[in-house]
Amino acid sequence: MCSWHTKTNVLRSLLSPFHFFRLRWHHCSAADVKNEPILEFKHGSPEREALQKALHDLKDKTEEIPCIVGGEEVWTKDVRYQPSPFKHSHKVAKYCYADKGLLNKAIDASLSVRRDWDLKPVEDRAQIFFKAADILSGPRRAEILAKTMIGQGKTAIQAEIDAAAELIDFFRFNAKYALELQHVQPISVPISTNTMVYRGLEGFVAAVSPFNFTAIGGNLAGAPALMGNVVLWKPSDTAMLSSYAVYKVLLEAGLPPNIIQFVPADGPVFGDTVTSSEHLGGINFTGSVLTFRHLWKQVAGNLERYRTFPRLAGECGGKNFHFVHKSADVESAVNGTIRSAFEYGGQKCSACSRLYVPDSLWPQVKARLLEEHSKIKVGNPADDFSTFFSAVIDEKAFRRIQSWIKHAETSPNLSILAGGKCDNKVGYFVEPSIIETKDPLEKIMTEEIFGPVLTVYVYPENKYKEVLHLIDSTSPYSLTGAVFAQDKNVVSEATRLLRNAAGNFYVNDKCTGAVVAQQPFGGSRASGTNDKPGGPHYILRWTSPQVIKETHVPGNEWTYPYMQ
Ligand code: NAD
Repeated sequence: MCSWHTKTNVLRSLLSPFHFFRLRWHHCSAADVKNEPILEFKHGSPEREALQKALHDLKDKTEEIPCIVGGEEVWTKDVRYQPSPFKHSHKVAKYCYADKGLLNKAIDASLSVRRDWDLKPVEDRAQIFFKAADILSGPRRAEILAKTMIGQGKTAIQAEIDAAAELIDFFRFNAKYALELQHVQPISVPISTNTMVYRGLEGFVAAVSPFNFTAIGGNLAGAPALMGNVVLWKPSDTAMLSSYAVYKVLLEAGLPPNIIQFVPADGPVFGDTVTSSEHLGGINFTGSVLTFRHLWKQVAGNLERYRTFPRLAGECGGKNFHFVHKSADVESAVNGTIRSAFEYGGQKCSACSRLYVPDSLWPQVKARLLEEHSKIKVGNPADDFSTFFSAVIDEKAFRRIQSWIKHAETSPNLSILAGGKCDNKVGYFVEPSIIETKDPLEKIMTEEIFGPVLTVYVYPENKYKEVLHLIDSTSPYSLTGAVFAQDKNVVSEATRLLRNAAGNFYVNDKCTGAVVAQQPFGGSRASGTNDKPGGPHYILRWTSPQVIKETHVPGNEWTYPYMQ
C-alpha cells in the first residue's frame, strides 16, 4: 500500500480523535434509533398513574426560575409570572427577565467555551443528547408532560406527542444524523487526501422559541449545540415551566455549563441585543412571521458589523387547508378535520383552518361535522382526562380569537354554524367554532388565527380545478395542506397544482401530526425558510464545513508539461 493511504488514516484520526468511537457507535446505537412509542394513558395504565401523580405535585405550586448565565443562576429584579391557561389564577412559574447587560454577559460566557465545544468529538456531543432522550423517555417523562399540560394547556396525549415523543425523537435523530454526516466525505484521488470537517458556526446562535411546542424549544437550542455551537436560548414567556425542565434535563445528561445560556427576556430586548453583536452566527427561530421578518430586517441592517453572515432559520405560521373532492371518503375528511382544526385549540402552526367542500357533499359533511362537534369537551385537562382541548394560551390570544369571532358575527359573508362563545373568567376558553363563508377570499380565509376556528367554503362540485388554483393563491402562507379524494387522477392533479402551496402535503390524511424522521416539517412563502427540522438536512444549517486537502508527495515542479 502506498504511503499516502497510511497518511490518510493518520490525518483522519488526528482530525477526528473520535475515530474509534465512531465505529463503535455505528455498530451499537445510531443505526438503532427509532421513533419513541407514544403512550396511551388508558385507565389503570402505569403512565396514567405517574402523570396524575406529577400533576398532583404541581397543583397550586409556583416554580421559581432563574436566568442561567455563565453556568450560574442569576435572579434579576424584573420578575414575571406564567399563568396556567385554563386556570389563570394559578401562576405556574415565577421567572425573571435578563436585561441587555446580562444578555451581553451571556454572549461573552458562551464565546469563552465555543472553541473547546466545537473541537469536542461529535460522538461525545451526541452521547449527551442520547442520554437526554433516555432521561425524558424514562425518569422525567411524567414531570415534563405535567409541566406542559398545566403551563401550556395541553391534554395528556397532546403533551405526550410533543414533550415526550417529539422531543425525544429530535434529540435521538439529530444525534444519529450528526454521526452519519461525518461519513459524508469528499473523494480523495492520488496523490492527496480531502477531508470535510463539520465545524460549528463561528460566533453564537440565538434560539428563539414559541409557546406551543415544548419540543421545539429543545430542538431550536439543542440542534445547534449538538453541532458544536454555543447558544443563547430565549424561551417563550408562556412555555417557561416546561422549557426550564428541558434545560435541566440537558444539564443532567452532561451538557457542560455555558454551552446553552438560558435567558428569559423581553422579545425585542433579546432581538435588539443579539442582532447588534458582531458575533451573531445564526438565529434559530420559530414563531410568527411578523417577528421573524423583524429579526431578519435587524440582521440586514447590521450586516457590515458581523464577522460572518449569520444563518437565519425561521419556521413561521400557516393558513392550512383541507380540500375535499366529491370522491372523498366523508368519514376520513370529517374526523381528520375535527382533529386537525381543534386539537390543542387550533394552536398548532399546522392546524387546518380552511376547509373546501363540494356542494354535493356539503349536507352530509355538515351534518357529520356538527354531530362530532357537539361531542367535543373543552375544559381542564389536568382534572378531566376526557377533555379534547383546553383554554388558549393567554389573554392576548383570547382577545385576538374573540375579535375574529366578533368579525364572523357581524360580517354579511360569514355565518357561525357552531360554537362562537368565549369565556375568560377562570381560564381563556374559546369554544370550537365552525364558520361558513360565502367569499373564499374573506380575510378569515387568508390570515392566521391560531385558535379553534375553522372556516368552510362550499364550492360548486364541477369547479374543483378553479378551487385548487384558489387554494394556492388565497393566503401568503404555505405550510400544510391536505387533499381528500379517492379519485387517483384528482389526487395527482391536486398534488401538481398545490406543489408550492404546502411544505407538508397530505393525501387522505389530516394536515397536522408530522412525526420526526417520517415527515420532516416546514413550509415556504410566509411560513418560513423550510429547513425541515426532524429531517437529516436540518443539522446542515448549524455547521460551517471546512475542507482540508493534504498532499502526500513533495511538489518539485512549477512548470507545466505544455511549456516544454
Ligand atoms: P411569537 O412570534 O409571538 O413569539 C415567538 C418568540 O419570539 C417568543 O419567544 C417571543 O418572545 C419572541 N419575540 C417576540 N418579539 C421578538 C423580537 N422582536 N425579537 C426576538 N424575539 C422576539 O409567536 P408565538 O405566539 O410564540 O407562536 C405562535 C406562532 O408560531 C404562530 O404563528 C405559529 O404558526 C408559529 N409556529 C410555527 C411553527 C413551524 O414549525 N412553522 C411551529 C410552531 C409555531
